[in-house]
Amino acid sequence: MSAPLHTALAAISDELIALRHDIHRWPEPGFEEVRTQAAIMAALSEAGLSPRACAGTGVVVDIGSGDGPCLALRADIDCLRMTEANPHLPYRSERDGLAHMCGHDGHTATLVGAGILLAGVEDRLPGRIRLLFQPAEEGPGGAPVMIEAGCLEGVDEVYGMHNWPAAPLGALRTISGPCMATVAEMSITVTGKGVHASQPQDGQDPVLAAAHIVTALQSIISRNVHYQDRCVVSVTTIHGGEAFNVIPDTVTMSGTIRALSEESYDLITARIEAVATGTATAMGCSAQVLINRMYPVLVNTPKETALVESVARAVFGTVSDELLPMLGAEDFAFFLQHRPGCFFFLGGGESGRSNAICHATNYDYNDNLIDIGVRFWLKLIEARMDVALFT
Ligand SMILES: [Zn+2]
Ligand SMILES: [Zn+2]
Repeated sequence: MSAPLHTALAAISDELIALRHDIHRWPEPGFEEVRTQAAIMAALSEAGLSPRACAGTGVVVDIGSGDGPCLALRADIDCLRMTEANPHLPYRSERDGLAHMCGHDGHTATLVGAGILLAGVEDRLPGRIRLLFQPAEEGPGGAPVMIEAGCLEGVDEVYGMHNWPAAPLGALRTISGPCMATVAEMSITVTGKGVHASQPQDGQDPVLAAAHIVTALQSIISRNVHYQDRCVVSVTTIHGGEAFNVIPDTVTMSGTIRALSEESYDLITARIEAVATGTATAMGCSAQVLINRMYPVLVNTPKETALVESVARAVFGTVSDELLPMLGAEDFAFFLQHRPGCFFFLGGGESGRSNAICHATNYDYNDNLIDIGVRFWLKLIEARMDVALFT
């Protein structure tokens, strides 16, 4: 029997935190994760594994050669295009406009840790583990590119983890079925006829039409969607005009659509088209609606979700579906379109920390969650493969 898990984990804990801080300090956005990819590959190679590049800046590594199930575990590795406001952090981002404000630095270090420990017990694995280090989760979406490159070939199930800063440290949250929303970006161009602002009767005012459209769009969720269905339509930008005394020719708007089912999504997009064009026509203008679907609904499968929940109950004691499903989106949804699996959240909240939410400028991954995450990955593998890899 190998070393106890806590001993093996304690031996690499500092290394994993250092790796997390290094990735945090040098953040890279979608499909530009060159340095991050090299750091992941170096750590895995050092452990005796044979990582390979996938989808440009992603990494895939296989561990074990048993005939048992092949489980894929995924971490996202990209940063956000935003500026960090954590002046107290010695490892704060060195790159203006780029920062790990969603914790993908922590997810990456955690999965590297699982890889290092699995390398030491590789010959005891009854099946195979494939680690997926995925680029571009924050956009434009690295998951479909990795799938296209064959990362799920031979894989039976796929699992993904995300931190949840507001939940207590180590508390697991997940739900079977729809867990996160499909997301689309909408843009609407309202065209009228510009004119001197003192002579509105001679023009067609796209500003007034746009204002009515913004208001009318809010009827879709309240009047058309079933009251039990959680959806969102938000207009988030609106631009038009240059001068206080000129009615402009056009106004452009953009926003987001979130839904938890294909049916709701189809209903909402059809209504947006009808409401925007109809309202514009009523105001003597025209509207062009463009909708760009980004990620599908993330749907966890029942058996794999039950496994994650049972392991979490045994390891942490706390499991809940509080605040789920949520209307955030995740490109892990693409993996679940191809294989059964489960996406789950681990709480990172602790007293004495800000516990700022993901995408906040003062967010920072909780280093204490790294050991917990590694432990959970290994316990999940042991439970699914019915094997004791560590004492
Ligand atoms: Zn994010
Ligand atoms: Zn994220």
